[in-house]
Amino acid sequence: MADCVFCSPIDHALYDDGRVAVVSHEDRAVRGHAMVVARRHVENASDLPTQEWLHFARVQHAAEHALLEATGAERAVLLKLGIQTPHLHVHIYPVRASLTRAEVQEIIDGRVREDVEYGFDEGVRVRIAGLMDQRQI
Ligand SMILES: [Zn+2]
Repeated sequence: MADCVFCSPIDHALYDDGRVAVVSHEDRAVRGHAMVVARRHVENASDLPTQEWLHFARVQHAAEHALLEATGAERAVLLKLGIQTPHLHVHIYPVRASLTRAEVQEIIDGRVREDVEYGFDEGVRVRIAGLMDQRQI
């Protein structure tokens, strides 16, 4: 779909194998806010054939692992909406386990911003690639 941001070429992906990509979210509401994106235009996970969904889940698993490791956060908050962009993507917010629900909601709403150090994305990119190279994660 021509007007869909995720059907357009994705630059600076943290991971992209042509079926699933991982991209940093530009709002930087929290260090490591990223999205796992299906490269096929579907709205819901259940629109994907099972094998494609399992691959999506494997990439999401690797991305979460890499983001938690890179940030030192203990908790991954996940969000799938599709209201603004009805193309399957899952947000991952690495957060401290000590955050309250209200503090997490501020992050989800993009009302806060966290600085991201130079080289952070490259570190995540290397970690995801390493995990996807392994047979078992
Ligand atoms: Zn799309």
